[in-house]
Amino acid sequence: MKANVEPPATVSIDANRVASVRRTNLGLILRLLRDHGARSRSQIAVETGLPKATISTLIAELVERGLVREGEIARGRGIGRPGQTVELDGRGLAGLGVEISSNYLKAVALDAQGSTVYQAQQALDIRGLDAEHALDAVAQLIRQGVDELTGRGIQPIKVCLASPGVVDAEHGTVIFAPNIGWRDVAVVKRLRQRLGTSVRELLVENDARLASLAEHAEFGRHNISDLLLLTGETGVAGGVIANGKLLRGYAGLAGEIGHAPLGPADASCPCGRKGCWETVVGLRAMLRHVADDDDPVRDSTRKLEERLAELVQRAEAGDIRTLRGLDAVAAALGHGLSILSDVVNPEVIVLGGYFSFFADYFIPSVQDRLDGRVMVPSLPASKVIRSTLGFDAASYGAARLALDLLFQDPTRVARPQPSLSG
Ligand SMILES: [Zn+2]
Repeated sequence: MKANVEPPATVSIDANRVASVRRTNLGLILRLLRDHGARSRSQIAVETGLPKATISTLIAELVERGLVREGEIARGRGIGRPGQTVELDGRGLAGLGVEISSNYLKAVALDAQGSTVYQAQQALDIRGLDAEHALDAVAQLIRQGVDELTGRGIQPIKVCLASPGVVDAEHGTVIFAPNIGWRDVAVVKRLRQRLGTSVRELLVENDARLASLAEHAEFGRHNISDLLLLTGETGVAGGVIANGKLLRGYAGLAGEIGHAPLGPADASCPCGRKGCWETVVGLRAMLRHVADDDDPVRDSTRKLEERLAELVQRAEAGDIRTLRGLDAVAAALGHGLSILSDVVNPEVIVLGGYFSFFADYFIPSVQDRLDGRVMVPSLPASKVIRSTLGFDAASYGAARLALDLLFQDPTRVARPQPSLSG
């Protein structure tokens, strides 16, 4: 009796294992094509260590799913027939990222090749709204993005929200975001109630961590695997990529460096604590240094980028107050970053957010400080560089994370509808 029951169970386990291995290998090939470009099936077989026959079968499935297409003929360097290359396709699929900031909402969609296929921004004073009304606006922006993409034949596979503050990504909750006034907001659940089935997959992650993912993708081409991003807008936060992976920490708080006790002990911070680094390197601190209360650059109803551009002009014109203010922030930045650099040992430190506007003034001072503390001359200090994405990093990181599902398990993404033209 028992012998009659066991074989199907074994077959089922084997079938599951085979399916799981297939999914893993499909993702492996897709990531290889994304990160290293078009290549022949033979080359993929060599690089993945999989038999060429297996590669051919897997590629056929990826082509059928619209994720890979035939490329150009590769001219072989050695003897033998030139091979047809395959390359990443996936132009019909996109990840949609939506950033929730203290005074705007920003959406961006990237297709599987990483090209920007949609962008939208809406000014919104979130601190002046309760969470429910703010989420109404977020839902509206998501709906608008999804409608626009599907109308153009692009399937949004997932929506990822970038929120400031402490985020519980696993449960889809913003636990504490003092700069937008949110506490225990079940973002994913409440957006699901508003969006219904129009969005299948939805998640929320901390904005600075997402920004560090986006910066890492930008600098990834240079094989940089250890990176620290410092970003500042209303608050100050960081993200750490260690050995190519995002560092989360046991409670998901890794990178909350704006609230590390690196500032003056008696300075009060919006987070409720005293002595936070944000009180000396944050945007508010910088603005206090460089301008009086009634100066137009401190008018928060004006667009931040315009106010920062005005300050850059003042610095370029040699305005003493502006330059002294930036020097003071640079000194506080150097102090904190030299400690963080010793702890994390990143190859690069990327200055994002508002810091990127003043990179020409901050970098020399911070780099000098780091270089002056090198213990072993053959092991150079972290290199401080300017973000290329600035205030767009969080929304781009969110769109990238939304696409990650595709590159981890391509079988979870529905096959595209056959087009009428065949
Ligand atoms: Zn704080």
